[in-house]
Amino acid sequence: MGDPNIKSNDKVPAIGIDLGTTYSCVAVWQHNRVEIIANDQGNRTTPSYVAFNETERLVGDAAKNQAAYNPTNTIFDVKRLIGRRASDKIVQEDMKLWPFKVVAGSHDKPKIVVTYKNEDKEFAAEEISSMVLAKMKGIAEIFLGTRVEKAVITVPAYFNDSQRQSTKDAAMVAGLEVLRMIHEPTAAAIAYALDKRAGVDGKMNVLVFDLGGGTFDVSILTIDNGGAIEVKATGGDTHLGGEDFDNRMVNYFVNEFKRKHKADISMNLKALGRLRVHCERAKRTISTASQTTIDIDCLFNGIDFSAKFSRAKFEEVNMELFNKCMDSVTTCLRDVNMSKDSIDEVVLVGGSTRIPKIQQLLQELFNGKLLYQGINPDEAVAYGAGILAANLSGMGNEAVQDLELIDITPLSLGVGDYKDVMVVFIPRNSPIPTKKVHTFYTIYDNQTVMDLPVYQGERSKCTENYLLSHFELSGLPPAPKGVVKVIVCYEIDVNGILHVSAREITSGSNSVIKITNNGSLTKAEITKMIEDAERYKLEDEAHMKKVMAHEALTEFVYKLRANIKDYKVRTKLRETVLSVKDLEDIDHQIEEAIEWLDEHPDAEIVDLEDKEVELNDICRLANLSLH
Ligand code: AMP
Repeated sequence: MGDPNIKSNDKVPAIGIDLGTTYSCVAVWQHNRVEIIANDQGNRTTPSYVAFNETERLVGDAAKNQAAYNPTNTIFDVKRLIGRRASDKIVQEDMKLWPFKVVAGSHDKPKIVVTYKNEDKEFAAEEISSMVLAKMKGIAEIFLGTRVEKAVITVPAYFNDSQRQSTKDAAMVAGLEVLRMIHEPTAAAIAYALDKRAGVDGKMNVLVFDLGGGTFDVSILTIDNGGAIEVKATGGDTHLGGEDFDNRMVNYFVNEFKRKHKADISMNLKALGRLRVHCERAKRTISTASQTTIDIDCLFNGIDFSAKFSRAKFEEVNMELFNKCMDSVTTCLRDVNMSKDSIDEVVLVGGSTRIPKIQQLLQELFNGKLLYQGINPDEAVAYGAGILAANLSGMGNEAVQDLELIDITPLSLGVGDYKDVMVVFIPRNSPIPTKKVHTFYTIYDNQTVMDLPVYQGERSKCTENYLLSHFELSGLPPAPKGVVKVIVCYEIDVNGILHVSAREITSGSNSVIKITNNGSLTKAEITKMIEDAERYKLEDEAHMKKVMAHEALTEFVYKLRANIKDYKVRTKLRETVLSVKDLEDIDHQIEEAIEWLDEHPDAEIVDLEDKEVELNDICRLANLSLH
């Protein structure tokens, strides 16, 4: 089921989606160039928001626009949650600021709790993300007039394995085959390379500084004029971006409110939500102006709040975070043994790079070098993803087809030994895809099961790194300890996703060992999510039909009222076929119908049809043509 105007097509274009923390953007290669596709509101980026209410589910602008008065059922920031555990320190901190509720589900998976159609519902982060992805897919389908099934989806370079796997699962639930997952700064580098290709003289070193709403990435790449892009190093923070700057502002104003009005708004979700919206707006203003004012009517306990906020104050409350970004740049340069002078271009990507202080600090770090701002920071990532989607689906011009990409894994991968030391198999910044094998022996007699805790991170103590999963190798033949030998193969694919396989070779059977990964979604869970997604889609479509029927009937009634009025004026109530009493009856029925429509915004289609029949009868009686 779907929009009947959307056809199935053999040569379906693949799209590029930048799935952002705060905004998402979709692009496609068409008419020999990349097209950034505007949504139904005409906006080229769509808020990564999903909201639920008594009657419907909203995604994108519609969801964000009603956030202030439906805060507990409006979900945003899901990219900060995806692939993390509920007990994760970061999740616990974020939960204090989110107006919506998050609880721990099975395997410590976070679940978002909302009230939808007057019932409590729990959603996994993957499901909410899939709703945003389905929205972006829908935007492209309406634009192209054809079904879209394949996409390149971008993820922060610094995403770990479970965050990537969860994003891929979300795409599957949204009905998208992931052609490739690429890193956001790499996608921006593709956009930059295509833009600058003609001017690239041999090889050049580019540093992409990508500071968005929720994540920060820095990548160093080489681009050559033959179309090859090679990522050398990457760094960053999957939990640092514009929203953290907003949070610091919110905290500052919570204290200001306390100081001025002796009242604490920190526990009032609605007040906090409204304050956050005003802070974000003020933040944007002071990127160009030096000062602004925040004015919020009735913020808390009937108190109006008004305060001045300067760019200098903004910089003061956020300087620690800005410095953190600069430190990541320095670390990334050190990782590849490159000096600042060897960087030919510093490319700015992500909405938060509009902050003047960020630009100033970065420019100072590179000894006054001019920063490249020639690509739209909000669209560059989707633009690059659109180019790669064309490349991988055999479309695009020569420059697109020449594109060659070598990316890297951002985090070291290893297992823990018995002393809690991280034994690294695949060091960070290794080109992907990559593969490493490691041999394990049983450590006690008749051991038939082996547990391999796999970690990602740079700390020498295992438990200080991120535990990806306990891979359980079962079905080993019973034997004295040290006899059974298992070869484990760790493979990171081109999407940066880990695959683990194992063979037991002692017995000569070379048998494949069954591996259970307790971290990610099971096939059954994904299937259920796909079914649910289809059901929600059908419910949305049915709801839209009702809304449209309601709107059509409302328009009809108002037109009827206008025609009657016109009729009265025209005939001056003389020589009319209808008596004054008839006209009064008709007026009365029209007013009744208007009232009924107002009182039944969610009326069923059959009831709307009945009303329409009643009104048609009036028309017949009045013998009025409405057309
Ligand atoms: P992105 O994830 O790249 O879409 O970036 C979104 C983030 O950029 C949000 O946190 C926005 O508040 C922030 N942003 C957008 N425009 C500006 C601006 N003019 N000044 C400061 N931050 C901005």
